[in-house]
Amino acid sequence: MKTSTKNAETNSVSTKGAKKSALFFSSITLFPEMFDVIRNYGVIGRAVKNKIVQLDCINPREFTRDKHRTVDDRPYGGGPGMLMKVEPLEKAIEAAKNKHPDLSTEAKVIYLSPQGRKLDYELVKQLSQQKHIVLLSGRYEGIDQRLIEQQVDMEISIGDFVLSGGELPAMIVIDAITRLLPDVLGHSDSAVEDSFEDGLLDHPHYTRPESYLDSDVPAVLLSGDHQAIEKWRLQQRLGQTWLKRPDLLAQKKLSDSEQALLEEFKVAYQAKEG
Ligand code: SAM
Repeated sequence: MKTSTKNAETNSVSTKGAKKSALFFSSITLFPEMFDVIRNYGVIGRAVKNKIVQLDCINPREFTRDKHRTVDDRPYGGGPGMLMKVEPLEKAIEAAKNKHPDLSTEAKVIYLSPQGRKLDYELVKQLSQQKHIVLLSGRYEGIDQRLIEQQVDMEISIGDFVLSGGELPAMIVIDAITRLLPDVLGHSDSAVEDSFEDGLLDHPHYTRPESYLDSDVPAVLLSGDHQAIEKWRLQQRLGQTWLKRPDLLAQKKLSDSEQALLEEFKVAYQAKEG
């Protein structure tokens, strides 16, 4: 894989009235329509509309010259399936970089691949500092190795399983990065208590009705005592992480008061569960 010495600038936090700084995504895909799913809906759709992010799709077929617009070919050495050819992909990457020439040396080319580094919160956070991300979605049996070696900065996997194309993983990457950018989430604190933000899972959430199938909303959440609510939420975050992701908890250094809250949670949990 191509090595990169690029240093990304930090995306500036935009405040009301200040100039927004966008992150550009260029998606190289044989199925550009698939990206309408995130372009037109929900939080990411709003971020596109508000120009916090820009999402362009580039179809490698546009860079073929034969009448069938061929983007794939048989693998050398035989074997099943087809491979995506180097030339159309290389030209598509070049076109993506040329769309934002001022950022062309900063553009990070990512190939979505089951062989890549597994996507996690840390990586998403790092990528949210980039200015231009080029996402390359494979199809068929994948892409010619020489393109990976010469053009790709990083391979990212979304898990140890094989999908039929890189489009869904690319959309996952776009979604996860975009929601971390300033001004994307409605409430400025929305991401702060999300799972993984500080090495803990999120606390449970409740909305109306107060009672559902004999199960009540915890009384503290109805108390109006903000300090008590904050304490309960922190305790729940510690407790849920202990229950569901002990591996995360093992990596986190707890303060004495956090440790005490967790111990209290464990005692209550064990008393309840027996
Ligand atoms: N032969 C390839 C291999 O085993 O490494 C798998 C090719 S897969 C059928 C076609 C494309 O789907 C890949 O080129 C890649 O872009 C995408 N893909 C499949 N699984 C993925 C995963 N877990 N994470 C990210 N991309 C994936």
